[in-house]
Amino acid sequence: MKQLEITIQNLTGLHARPAKVFVNIAKGYQSDIRVFHGEKKANAKSLISLLTLGVEAGSQITIEVSGEDEEEALAALEMAVLSGLGEEELLDNAPKQTQDKQKAPSPVEEVIPQPQLADTATNKIKGVPGAPGIAIGPIYHLKRTEISVVETFESESKEKNQLQEAIEKAKGQLKQLRKKMMEQNAKSEAAIFDVHLELLDDVDLLDEVLGKINQKQSAALAWQSTIEDRAKLVASLNDPLLAARAADLHDVGYRVLRILVGADSLTHEFPDHPVIILADDLSPSDTVSLDRDKVLGFCTARGGPTAHTAIIARALGLPAIVSAGERISGISEQTTVILNGNTGVLTLNPDQSEISTAAKQQQDEKELRQQARVSAGEPAITNDGHRVEIAANIGGAKDAAQAMELGAEAVGLLRTEFLFLDRVNPPSEDEQFAVYREIAQTMQNQPVIIRTLDVGGDKPLPYIQMVEEANPFLGERGIRLCLNRPELLREQITAVLRANEYGTLRIMFPMVSDVSEWKQAQKIVAQIEAALGVSGIEMGIMVEVPSAALMADAFAEHVDFFSIGTNDLTQYTLAMDRMHPQLAGKSDGLHPAVLRLIDMTIKAAHHAGKWVGVCGELGADPQAIPILVGLGVDELSVTVPAIPTVKAQVRSLNYEETKALAQSALKCATAYEVRQLT
Ligand code: PEP
Ligand code: MG
Repeated sequence: MKQLEITIQNLTGLHARPAKVFVNIAKGYQSDIRVFHGEKKANAKSLISLLTLGVEAGSQITIEVSGEDEEEALAALEMAVLSGLGEEELLDNAPKQTQDKQKAPSPVEEVIPQPQLADTATNKIKGVPGAPGIAIGPIYHLKRTEISVVETFESESKEKNQLQEAIEKAKGQLKQLRKKMMEQNAKSEAAIFDVHLELLDDVDLLDEVLGKINQKQSAALAWQSTIEDRAKLVASLNDPLLAARAADLHDVGYRVLRILVGADSLTHEFPDHPVIILADDLSPSDTVSLDRDKVLGFCTARGGPTAHTAIIARALGLPAIVSAGERISGISEQTTVILNGNTGVLTLNPDQSEISTAAKQQQDEKELRQQARVSAGEPAITNDGHRVEIAANIGGAKDAAQAMELGAEAVGLLRTEFLFLDRVNPPSEDEQFAVYREIAQTMQNQPVIIRTLDVGGDKPLPYIQMVEEANPFLGERGIRLCLNRPELLREQITAVLRANEYGTLRIMFPMVSDVSEWKQAQKIVAQIEAALGVSGIEMGIMVEVPSAALMADAFAEHVDFFSIGTNDLTQYTLAMDRMHPQLAGKSDGLHPAVLRLIDMTIKAAHHAGKWVGVCGELGADPQAIPILVGLGVDELSVTVPAIPTVKAQVRSLNYEETKALAQSALKCATAYEVRQLT
């Protein structure tokens, strides 16, 4: 056995991120590794266990390792702690900035709607718009049914089997939820369920539950008490990042518990008529599980417009209000309300005229969608004759068929990584070929842009060994990963080139930041083309790293096209993690800095006779569409359900006016100002 005392130098102590680095290193060794802090002890291979030590900056911990590779393990952990566990600013060289942390909000905060108190003088409660749309109907208070767990211990083996089965079932449900979100192209929401899956694999958590079962506690009781204790402990550490983990732990813990006690569904006592749900808050997994036929919309007392719950509601097309305050808990059951997700207003017991107005608005919105659908097959040409191609972002062959029905003129982005997720090994060249061929045939010779594998960042693959990265979004992601593992790229390119015989495919590389990456990738394609005796496939890059936009003129000499990935371009330009719940409201693709990079790319591309698409979420944002068109974007590639309405909006525009609007937007100082223009 080996021991080491060491001081944690991280400014915020052993909080989630450095702890995760520590745990991942520990997991790489066979030895048993424990960490001691004061009276407390943790299993170093369990994130929850390590977090609950509450190690603060400057505290000493003792690492104790015993096993075959104890020396190597201890040396690796020592080195990792000394070098900051993936963080650069450590105690010794910490800048004196802690006092400044609560600075005045930046002007962009203006765009974030602030919750307002209930208007007691009227029948209206004002919250924050969570997801657009109008719903009219009776309310239903969704309260978590208290799960009463009674002691039913039978035998250790029976309880352990039950626990195992419940965990497996919960994992199956989580994978389904993740898949559902992936199908809606809501990747960051899908990632929430990855966190839940990871929590279910926490060795220490399981050990504790099994220990209680060994002492003759039933699986349900043992699981419940362990989850509750851990969640409380994590929540009490006063770290906002950890508070989110506590909520996740609670959410996933109750999923397993419900299975264990046979109260598997959240809505098992749900009324049999459609309702508007009122709740204190909804977890992301509750939201995904809501039955779209029975739920017209929801309003929560807490939550925020950028929280995952609201984002999921938008992806599901469910009108929602968030942050409406405690007052909603006092509304009597069955009260009829109008929920306006566009304005954030909940109207209680509306009179007939309020109902008629809301119903008319609802009908108008529906008709607009229907009309858009009727003319979905027509091109999107502005009223002064400027055509914009409207393409689809798809994740697989099923989406392609739907895209055709809804009037897609091309596939602007096939996220091929979806074919690689949820598996234990990569799809073979033949499997990939079959999917690409099916998509090519479905699209009937309309162009299909196949983006090469974009893993890394928020999409790690279990079968690709990657070094733990402190900043995965700035790490080995997209083209970088493929160039370091050329065999993956070769197989994919071969499959694409073979499938190209059945339609019109194009190849696009993600995360390109330097012309040399393009050249390497292009060389690989050229080699495979030569080997297969084919030539001439069009190739382009995603512009999602500021350097690619700034160097667009250099790229324009080589590429056939550009496609701007505004999701990442925004995250990298504003230095705001696209998965960060607190920053989601500020991370706005209409920031003039992002627009200037888009403008720069379009000018360089057009100068060289190349075309430019936008395939990030901004391309379907009604406020962004006129600006993007005015900047000269040639193609908007959007999620499949949005195709008809995006086309309809383009038809309502005047190109000359959008050009003037775009120029004004480029001169604005903030995203808020840009949004005020439209
Ligand atoms: C983007 O970054 O805008 C994009 C379309 O790619 P993804 O969302 O898949 O990262
Ligand atoms: Mg991207």
